[in-house]
Amino acid sequence: MTKSLIPLPSTTHPIGPISRRWIAFSVIHKAGGPSWAVVDASTYELHPEASAYLHYLLGSARSTNTIRAYAQRLAAFFTWIGPARLDWTEGVPVVSRFIRELAVTALDTPDGTAEYREPRYRSGKTMNQYAAAITQFYMWAARSDLISEKTAAGFYETRIAYGYSGDRLLPGQVSRSRAVRAKEVEEAPKLMNETGAKSLLEAVSNHRDRFLVALMMETGVRIGEALGLRTEDLHLFHDSRAVGCAAAGPHIHVRRRQNPNAALSKSSNPRTVPVTETVCTLYYPYLEDRIDLLAQDSSPMVFVNLYSRAHAGEALKYSNTVKMFYRSSGRTGLRVNPHMTRHTAATRWKRAGVPARDVQALLGHRSPSSQLVYEHTSDQDLRDAIEGVRYGRSNPS
Ligand SMILES: [Zn+2]
Repeated sequence: MTKSLIPLPSTTHPIGPISRRWIAFSVIHKAGGPSWAVVDASTYELHPEASAYLHYLLGSARSTNTIRAYAQRLAAFFTWIGPARLDWTEGVPVVSRFIRELAVTALDTPDGTAEYREPRYRSGKTMNQYAAAITQFYMWAARSDLISEKTAAGFYETRIAYGYSGDRLLPGQVSRSRAVRAKEVEEAPKLMNETGAKSLLEAVSNHRDRFLVALMMETGVRIGEALGLRTEDLHLFHDSRAVGCAAAGPHIHVRRRQNPNAALSKSSNPRTVPVTETVCTLYYPYLEDRIDLLAQDSSPMVFVNLYSRAHAGEALKYSNTVKMFYRSSGRTGLRVNPHMTRHTAATRWKRAGVPARDVQALLGHRSPSSQLVYEHTSDQDLRDAIEGVRYGRSNPS
């Protein structure tokens, strides 16, 4: 049996398809407490099926964060349904088409950065989260008699694993897998090579940005961590005992705090990352500029606005820094996003044979699995490995 609680925005409507924008909306349930619903963005009318399903999730003790994520995914799905002139109760064909179109729809870019960004797309993993949430919704719809059993059955494929018993092939374990899936491709992170890194440093237009980029490339700190650095976190001395720090050699401290530029170190554990002389020498020209250009300087932050009158002395902003990366690298014909500096540092350490636990400590990763992505070898690595075997360096015995 198929029925629907709302008039569907379908081709049968007298004035044609209705496009409604559905959004996830925070609500308080009388009995259940805070939760999420799907509402019309202009009238705040509840989407009956999606909201009933989310209410059911609340009853089944799902966390508010999970419910919010489901609400956002269902809102996107129902918003897409309208202009696509489809009936959601048709099931798999509609959902598969949504997932396919989602894959090629670029994500919105944050304000002001659009001109410097390449379009970004959802990962296969994200699309699978959409597919899973929507599939769960349809399973609930089947139990609530909103869609037929046949429609619901289409959402799962049954597989039977066969195995040999002696020489006879016998059916073994039966497994069910979701019918609507996206391909998950784990891509190796984008890296800069030596030449790219060098030309980026040359293309940077001022002393501050040169120090920032060099520091990020060398220490692998996240952009938020770099922008959150305070002068007191820079121990660029051979010996920092005079300032009360026993760590040997020049280094920086990465600590989690709330900062005026909203930069936030992601790891809650503070860490110390060594820096080389070369990077230390890049700090002083910036410091000279800072003294020359700021009449008054009371900011505790390492990176401040300096080269334009507007907001001089204020903490450097994330969005401006991202733009600077794209602008500078654009001049060299490359396209370097700030996170590539971190990938590049991590990969360089791995290739230089730095033990995994040290790389983990340097990156501030809590779990070793976070760096599995750096285990990826490039095509060039594989080629080098093969050629190395073929043409020598192998043990003659
Ligand atoms: Zn220190």
